[in-house]
Amino acid sequence: MNVNTIEEESAEKKGLNFVEQIVFDDLQAGKNGGRLNTRFPPEPNGYLHIGHAKAICMDFGVAEKFGGTCNLRFDDTNPVKEDVEYVDSIKEDIHWLGFDWADREYYASDYFPQLYALAERLIKEGKAYVDDQTSEQIAAQKGTPTEPGTESPYRNRTPEENLDLFHRMNAGEFEEGARVLRAKIDMASSNMHFRDPIMYRIIKHPHHRTGTTWKVYPMYDFAHGQSDYFEGVTHSICTLEFVPHRPLYDYFVDELADESYRPRQIEFNRLKLTYTVMSKRKLLQLVKEGLVAGWDDPRMPTISGMRRRGFTPQSVRNFIDKIGYTKYEALNSISLLEHAVRDDLNRVATRGMAVMNPVKVVIDNYPEGETEMVQMENNPEAPETGTHAMPFSRELYIEREDFMENPPKKFFRLAPGGEVRLKGAYIIKCDGEIEKDADGNITVIHCTYDPDTRSGLPGSMRKVKGTLHWVSAAHAVEATARLYDRLFNVENPAEEKDRDFREMLNPDSLKVMEGIKLEPFLAENAVAGRPFQFQRIGYFTPDKDSTPEHLIFNRTIALKDSWEKEQKK
Ligand code: ATP
Ligand code: MG
Repeated sequence: MNVNTIEEESAEKKGLNFVEQIVFDDLQAGKNGGRLNTRFPPEPNGYLHIGHAKAICMDFGVAEKFGGTCNLRFDDTNPVKEDVEYVDSIKEDIHWLGFDWADREYYASDYFPQLYALAERLIKEGKAYVDDQTSEQIAAQKGTPTEPGTESPYRNRTPEENLDLFHRMNAGEFEEGARVLRAKIDMASSNMHFRDPIMYRIIKHPHHRTGTTWKVYPMYDFAHGQSDYFEGVTHSICTLEFVPHRPLYDYFVDELADESYRPRQIEFNRLKLTYTVMSKRKLLQLVKEGLVAGWDDPRMPTISGMRRRGFTPQSVRNFIDKIGYTKYEALNSISLLEHAVRDDLNRVATRGMAVMNPVKVVIDNYPEGETEMVQMENNPEAPETGTHAMPFSRELYIEREDFMENPPKKFFRLAPGGEVRLKGAYIIKCDGEIEKDADGNITVIHCTYDPDTRSGLPGSMRKVKGTLHWVSAAHAVEATARLYDRLFNVENPAEEKDRDFREMLNPDSLKVMEGIKLEPFLAENAVAGRPFQFQRIGYFTPDKDSTPEHLIFNRTIALKDSWEKEQKK
C-alpha cells in the first residue's frame, strides 16, 4: 500500500491522525458550508467485531472531535443475509462503546426509490444497460489489469428496451441471475471497477424492512456514495480495500452532486489481530456449526463476546487509540489488546478472594465455632471505594498449589514448619499434621495462628515471605469458573490459505473449573458484567447465565503480576 508520508507527518505535528487532518483542512477551507457529517455503515449480516470498533471510534470520534455528527446507516442491500437480530445487536454494541447517533438512524433501503429513479435516468441517458449474460460470462469478459475486457453483446440496446427490461426485472418477470443492470462506462479502463460494473441484480428473497416491494437490489458501489449524498454525509470514511472503488464512488456522486456539497471517501487500514479471524462469514460459520456458543461467546472477537467476557469499553477504546490509523495494512498483536484490558481492569475491578483449586486448612488453636470479620480493600487503585468485610474462622481453604510438603528452596508459600501471611488476616504456621486420603492426596493441613499478627496490629508488621489468598470454608460459596484462552492456535489463521480455518481452532480455548470457592462478598455482588479481580488469580466477571443458585464466572484475563511478586520489590 501507498504510504502518504507528507499527510502523516503534518498530522503528527498537530496531534491529529491523517483522517482528522483531512477533515480539519476541509473545515478550514469551508468546504460543504463548514459542515461535518460522517456515518458508520454496517451491513446487518452479523454481529460487530473489534474491527468494526475501530471504524466506530473513527467515524463517531472524528465527528465528536470537530463538532460534527455521525449517522448510523445500515447498509441493507442484500436481503438474503440480513436480519433484524443483527440490527438490534449492532445498536447495542455501539452504545456500549459509548457512542450515540441520536435520531440519525438510517437505512440504505430508505433510498431504494431514489436509487431506482437514478438508475432509470442513467438508462435514459444511455449510461446503463440490461445484460442478459450469466455472471460467469460477465466475469470472463472482464479482462485483466493489463488486457482490456470484451464488450457485452447486449451493450448497445436502446434506452427504451433497457428501461422496459429493467422495469420487468423489478416486476419479478425474470429469475434471479437471468439479467443485471450494468453501468456503461469503459471496458478498457485501467480501473477494473470501471469495466461496466453491475448496478442492480435480481433478488427474490423478502427484505427485512421493505418486504417484497423490490425484486431488484443495488450493488454496494451503486448504493454507497449516493446514500452518503442523500444523507448529507461529508466524509465517508472506510477501509483500504475501497481505495480502487473510489473513482467509481466519485463517478456516481458526480451524477448527483454540485459544487456546493459533495461527500468524500477517505480510507484507513483495517484492524487485523493475531490468533483470531475477523471475517463475518467465518464468524457466522463458527456460530452456525456450534464451534462456539454463539456470537457473544467470550472467545469471539465480537463486541458482544468481549463484553460478556468482561472487557470494558474503555479498554477497547484505549487499545484502538494506541494502534492508531494509517494507510498501510498491518497485523496487530492480541497481547496489546490484552494489555489494555488489564490496565483498565486494574483501575476499575473490585478485589475479592476466590480459591480455584481448594485444599482445607484447619487452625488448631482457633476457637471452634467462632467467626470474626476482617476488612478487605475493594480496590487499592481507588481507595475511595472503601473496604468490605470477609469472614475468618477455624477452617479455611487455600490453593492446593500454595502448599508443598517437600518444597524446593525459595518456595515462599506454605510448607511444613513454615509461616505465611493470610492476606488481610493473620500469620499462620504449618506445625500440625498433614492429613491424606487413601491415595496419598492431601486433605487437611493443620496449622496454628499467631493472634498478635492480626492485620492492623503491630505484630502484623513481622516479615514473612509469602502472602496467600484464602476463604473461610463454612462461609464459602461454590461457583463455576470458565477460563478462556485464544480462539486459534496459529498467529494468523487468515494467512494459512491451504488449511481449513476450523482446523486451527485452539482445543484448549475453554476450560471449565467446577467447585471454586468464593468469599461471600463476591457471591452477593455477582452482577453480570461487573468486573472483579480474584486476588492473585486474574480478572473475572459473572456470566450472563450465572444465577444465585449456580454462579458462573468468566475469566476475562489472567493477572500478569500477582501481588506476591509485587511484594518482593
Ligand atoms: P464483510 O466482511 O461482510 O464485507 P465488513 O467486515 O466490511 O463485512 P461491514 O458491516 O460492511 O462489514 O462494515 C461496516 C464498516 O466497518 C465499514 O466501514 C468497514 O470498512 C468497517 N470495518 C469492517 N471491518 C473492519 C476492520 N477489520 N477494521 C476496521 N474497520 C472495519
Ligand atoms: Mg463490507
